[in-house]
Amino acid sequence: MANETIFIGLGSNEGDRLDFCERALRLLQLMPRSRVTGVSSYYETEPVDPYGVLGTGWFINGVVRMETTLSAGEVLALCQEIECSLGRNNSHRIGPRTIDLDLLCYGQHCIATPDLVVPHPRLHLRRFILVPFAEIAPQWRHPVAQRAIHELLACLEDQHQVRRLDVLPGSRYPSHPVTCLS
Ligand code: AMP
Repeated sequence: MANETIFIGLGSNEGDRLDFCERALRLLQLMPRSRVTGVSSYYETEPVDPYGVLGTGWFINGVVRMETTLSAGEVLALCQEIECSLGRNNSHRIGPRTIDLDLLCYGQHCIATPDLVVPHPRLHLRRFILVPFAEIAPQWRHPVAQRAIHELLACLEDQHQVRRLDVLPGSRYPSHPVTCLS
């Protein structure tokens, strides 16, 4: 399968939010046939919660860029495994979440199946996604809107607050070089 550039959104608004994001980032770095090629800053973000189901806590969000030869379905399945391993409780999917991983873009592909919609249908509407996305890939073209991420951000109506955190992503669980034991 061809190599694809993909973007994954991270979000947490329950428990030690930064720790959940850091652990998810570490697990994304271990994804097979894939490598992380960019990580945004973390942002503390006001909940976008029209139905009042997410609780009052602000989220921590970020966006990760990867190269992969996995299919979009395989990426989604591995993201769901990471969510499960970090204690995401599927019995209240729309409540507060320890970690939420969204496949935002899978190359320039447009996919619409019952389990997977790519590009993510709310990507172009959410400041908490577009701000970190624009930090690492401002020129990336949204395959449906046919506009660059920085252009989508410039004309965005969503006024929810998004504040950059002064934390180095990946610093809590750094990946170590493999050492030779022989
Ligand atoms: P959420 O509550 O945001 O984690 O939504 C998870 C559900 O959305 C799962 O049932 C997925 O199959 C579905 N889904 C559809 N498209 C996507 C996508 N691009 N990324 C992640 N989940 C998706």
